[in-house]
Amino acid sequence: MNAEADALSAARDAVKDADRKHVFHSWSAQDLIDPLAVAGAEGSYFWDYDGNRYLDFSSALVYTNIGYQHPKVTAAIQEQAARLCTVAPGFAVDVRSEAARLIAERTPGDLDQIFFTNGGAEAVENAVRMARLHTGRPKVMSAYRSYHGATSTAINLTGDARRFGNDTATAGVVHFWGPFAYRSPFYAANEAEECERALRHLEDTIVFEGPQSIAAIVLETVAGAPGVLVHPDGYLPGVRALCDRYGILLVLDEVMVGFGRTGEWFAADHWGVVPDLLCFAKGVNSGYVPLGGVAISPAVAATFATRPYPGGLTYSGHVLACAAAVATINVMAEEGIVEQSARTGAELLGPGLRALAERHPSVGEVRGLGTFWALELVRDPATREPLVPYNAAGADNAPMVAFGAACKKGGLWPLIAGNRIHVAPPCNISAEDVAKGLEILDEALSVADAHMA
Ligand code: PLP
Repeated sequence: MNAEADALSAARDAVKDADRKHVFHSWSAQDLIDPLAVAGAEGSYFWDYDGNRYLDFSSALVYTNIGYQHPKVTAAIQEQAARLCTVAPGFAVDVRSEAARLIAERTPGDLDQIFFTNGGAEAVENAVRMARLHTGRPKVMSAYRSYHGATSTAINLTGDARRFGNDTATAGVVHFWGPFAYRSPFYAANEAEECERALRHLEDTIVFEGPQSIAAIVLETVAGAPGVLVHPDGYLPGVRALCDRYGILLVLDEVMVGFGRTGEWFAADHWGVVPDLLCFAKGVNSGYVPLGGVAISPAVAATFATRPYPGGLTYSGHVLACAAAVATINVMAEEGIVEQSARTGAELLGPGLRALAERHPSVGEVRGLGTFWALELVRDPATREPLVPYNAAGADNAPMVAFGAACKKGGLWPLIAGNRIHVAPPCNISAEDVAKGLEILDEALSVADAHMA
C-alpha cells in the first residue's frame, strides 16, 4: 500500500515538474500558479494522485456535458482513429457530413449549413467575418457583460475584464449594456422594466452609431462567464426585432450554453428565437476532441454560393472531433440528457440552491436554468455589495479564495468567477451527486458568510 502511494506521489511530482518547466498556461502569471495534477476522470468526477476525488461542478470549463469518459464516445473516437484519423477539409467524408446533419437538425429554425472550427473563439471570429461580408458593414455590437473567446476579434467583442489586456480599440466593436435586473444598469424596479429599458438603450445605441454601419449584434443567449445571466422573457425577441428593423444580423453565441446546458438543445429554444448565425463548441462533443462551428442561415450561405468564402482552417471538421460529435449527440438523444438537464434544474438544483440562499445571508441571488446556475455572493444583501470587488485580485479576492478552498476541501471542484460560484455540473449528473454537491456547498457557504460586512 505504501509503495503504491509512494509511486503515485512520485508520478504526481514528475507530472507537476514537467508542467512547470514546459507548459505555458492560459490567463496566468506563470510563476504564480500551482496546477493540480489530475490522474483520471469518469462521469461527474476527476481525481488527483493523492487519492482526492472531486465532484466536478464546473464540467471542466463548462463543456463535459455528458461527463468524463463516456464509453460510447471514447469507443467512437478509437474506432475513427483506427479507420481514418484525418483527412483534409476539402474532401467530403462520412463522419463530418453526419455531424453536420445532426447539428443542423437541432439548431433553431432554418440554420442548415455548418462551418466547422476548432473551438468557440474561431466560431465567433468566422461568424463576424460572415456578417461583415454579407452586410458590407464594418461594426459589430456586443454586451459589456460578455465573453466571446480569446482570439483577436473575439476578445475585443468580449466585454469582461479579460479584454483589458488585449483591447486594441481598432476591432470595430461597440459595447452596450444588456439587462441584469439584480444589478440593473437602468435603475429598473422589475424585470419587465429592465427588459424594456435595455431594449430602448440598445436601439438608441444602434441609431446613434448609425445602423448602416452595423453588421451584427453578437450576444450570448444566456451570458455564461459573466454570471449566468438569463435574459428576461421579452429581451431576445426584442433584439431579434431590432436586428430586423435595421438590417443587422443576429449572431447568438451558444458556445457555453448549446447542447443541453440550459435544458434545451440550444438556449434560443427557450424563447423561440432564430438567429442568422449561431456559434457552438464545447458541448457539441463534450470537449473530448476540440470542435466548434457556426450554423448558417440560408440567406448568409447564399452570399457565398458563387463567391468564395475568404476563410478556412486546416482542421475544419477534423474527423476525430466529428466522430466524437456524432457519438455525443446520439448519446444525448438516446439517454435523454437534454431532458435530464431540464429536470435536474427544475426539481433539484433550482430548489436546492434556493434553499441554500435561505440559510446563507451571503447568497444575494440564485439564477439559472437546467444545469447552469450562479450564486451571487454579497457582503450585504441589502446593498448587494459584491463579496469581492469587480476584477479583484490579491488580498481583495481573499474571501472568494477561502470559499473556493472550502469547496475543494469538501470534495467539490467549483467554478468561481468574480464574486460568484457558477454551478455547472455535467448535464447528466445523478440526483445523488446533486445532493452531495449541495451538501458540500452548504458547508462552504458558511466560509462566505463569515466574510460578510
Ligand atoms: N463564447 C463563449 C460564450 C464562451 O463561453 C467561450 C469560452 O468559454 C468562447 C466563446 C470561447 O471558446 P474557446 O475557448 O473554445 O475558444
